[in-house]
Amino acid sequence: MRTLHADVAVVGTGAGGAVAAKELAEAGLRVVVLEEGDWHPPQTLTARPRDMLVELYRDAGQIATVGTPPIVLPLGRAVGGTTLVNSGTCFRTPRHVLDAWRADDGLELELDFDRVEAELNVVEVPPQLAGRNAELVRQGAARLGLSGGYLRRNVRGCVGSGVCAYGCPAGAKQHVGATYVPKATAAGAELLTGVRIRRIHTARDGRVSGVEGDGVRVQAPRVVLAAGAIHTPVLLARNRLGRGPLGDNLSIHPATAARARFDEEVRLWDGVPQSYYVDALAGEGIMLEGIAGPPDYLAMAIPKHGREHRDLMLDARRLAQFGVMVHDTGRGRVRNLLGRPLIRYDLAPADARRFQRGFELLARIWFAAGAREVVVPIAGVPPLRDGDTTPLRAAHVRPRDLTLMAFHPLGTARASADPARGVLDADLQVRGTSGLYVADGAAVPTSLGVNPQITIMALAARLAQHLACRS
Ligand SMILES: Cc1cc2nc3c(=O)[nH]c(=O)nc-3n(C[C@H](O)[C@H](O)[C@H](O)COP(=O)(O)OP(=O)(O)OC[C@H]3O[C@@H](n4cnc5c(N)ncnc54)[C@H](O)[C@@H]3O)c2cc1C
Ligand code: SF4
Repeated sequence: MRTLHADVAVVGTGAGGAVAAKELAEAGLRVVVLEEGDWHPPQTLTARPRDMLVELYRDAGQIATVGTPPIVLPLGRAVGGTTLVNSGTCFRTPRHVLDAWRADDGLELELDFDRVEAELNVVEVPPQLAGRNAELVRQGAARLGLSGGYLRRNVRGCVGSGVCAYGCPAGAKQHVGATYVPKATAAGAELLTGVRIRRIHTARDGRVSGVEGDGVRVQAPRVVLAAGAIHTPVLLARNRLGRGPLGDNLSIHPATAARARFDEEVRLWDGVPQSYYVDALAGEGIMLEGIAGPPDYLAMAIPKHGREHRDLMLDARRLAQFGVMVHDTGRGRVRNLLGRPLIRYDLAPADARRFQRGFELLARIWFAAGAREVVVPIAGVPPLRDGDTTPLRAAHVRPRDLTLMAFHPLGTARASADPARGVLDADLQVRGTSGLYVADGAAVPTSLGVNPQITIMALAARLAQHLACRS
């Protein structure tokens, strides 16, 4: 057993862990960072979905929830965590969400978004890289007078190659493995990859004393867990730590994509996959965001089979695709099943109706832009033609009728000043175990309605500052 000593051990190098490690190391603390995945420099990223899913994602991206409907929930496993494979979209935590956290959970959070965005080089997608797929939605939305815009993303030198979800071969995406992790190690942090932490050690007085896994033990008076919203509660549970609603309160931002057929060539794989959004229904918890990828991804993603699948793929160059994401009201839970997560989530009927509403707006946008046909992933709803959305509006959409994915698990070790609501206190410390903190999506108290990486990073930066001040 190799034993290391540190002021702080950080578990995980994703959005939360990498930021915490860098800020703590730069504050002069001895930091050891432990990551289950490997380091993948840009020259090793082939952009081929079949290969990269296996290399960069946990369980080849095939993790799914148990419930109605089952929802595929991909997670990154690498230096950089899920930020290595994400779309790079950057939203700040909406003001009304921060206000709700203050009112409901007593969380007074002044988050320094400027600092995080400067590290990541967050910039708006230039129109010439947005792709025809986004341009059609922009045109349709403009004709209907709907609000939207080009997304802000963490990139430097993006060439619009369209393969963000499989790692950026151009090295343009400024994921935390390429930004925060190198700064952490430059400031003296020691990074160990290929190490899965299984044990959290505590002393008799209930203080944390270190972590252990895969032949490595780190003795440290402070531990920051950042294994993500699915694995942090499992790690706590298998070590019998964490009080209150551990593993409950899981929100995921359920999402899915619809497709449209145009007479012109769209080539949805050209340009930034997630480059444009329409927020006309954001007040109802519905966001439309671009989502695209290479043709082999499209073949896997289309929820059709047989002749219908063949016909769509034969017309792949003329297909457009766009996503609908819902600010979910339903909640799921994560449980420890022999060291692995069992994820239970049932889509709330009200959220199913939000998808219906989102698709209806998207169909109107596409028809306004000249679409010939719109195909929505709702069982029993036929392809929409001639600008007619009646079959969609008339459908009684139940959760089981939808084909969904989700990319934003949050909330399974929620922070709250109220011990009955929060596994973590307002300083993100695990109740009952002093010195043990959480700095990942698990800490985020509620669904956000927008993509969460900036929120998680800003929370982690705040925690690191707090720990550095107390050292
Ligand atoms: C395809 C996709 C696209 C997305 N696009 C966006 C986007 O455009 N914008 C956005 O804001 N968000 C996006 N997200 C979500 C965003 O990337 C995540 O919300 C964010 O990375 C979560 O941060 P985290 O720190 O909670 O966990 P992660 O980033 O998942 O990091 C957790 C890390 O911990 C490691 N780990 C887990 N268990 C252990 C253990 N026991 N020991 C050691 N290491 C461990 C994992 O290997 C992983 O590297 C996307 C997600 C996906 C899947
Ligand atoms: S579009 Fe291509 S170049 Fe731009 S960030 Fe994504 S993978 Fe990298």
